[in-house]
Amino acid sequence: MYEGVVQDLIDELGRLPGVGPKSAQRIAFHLLQADPADVKRLSDVLVEVKIKVRFCATCFNVSEAEQCRICADPRRDGSVLCVVEEYKDVVAIERTREFKGRYHVLGGAISPIDGVGPDQLRIRELMARLADDAIGEIILATDPNLEGEATATYLTRQLRPLGLRVTRLASGLPVGGDLEYADEVTLGRAFAGRQAAP
Ligand SMILES: [Zn+2]
Repeated sequence: MYEGVVQDLIDELGRLPGVGPKSAQRIAFHLLQADPADVKRLSDVLVEVKIKVRFCATCFNVSEAEQCRICADPRRDGSVLCVVEEYKDVVAIERTREFKGRYHVLGGAISPIDGVGPDQLRIRELMARLADDAIGEIILATDPNLEGEATATYLTRQLRPLGLRVTRLASGLPVGGDLEYADEVTLGRAFAGRQAAP
């Protein structure tokens, strides 16, 4: 254990996802030895990102304006909505260039163990969008794992009575994993081959 501000730094770094105690220590000592100008740049961008970046008022993707780049783009097809867990899934799907519609970011997946139910996700906001917009198809692109499946099943039950076309990505994605880790070709293929939700 270190003292004062050095320990504070290690503690804060250790709270980041994927950073264990050893990594936190290594990063802290790297920062202590680094050029002050480099550390200043890092600290500036941390502050800036929290000031500038917010969530799109429509789809909850990260955005620097009221609406994100995708919602604001008139060339995107407003009749197809792709529902994802996190905004990094938007990035992964955009990389495939397979999808020209718009998104809805739930902010996670249903996981009773972690205390996440439908009310903790942006499902109410999704339903509100469906009431307003001329949306004909919903693509459920949740992660191919237990939580993702539970979320898709729940959403299918909610959406089907509305008479929308509800589809799921084709199988072929690595099971148990995160959507964002699938390679572009596999994800693109899963998109193109999407099927009616069971
Ligand atoms: Zn948006």
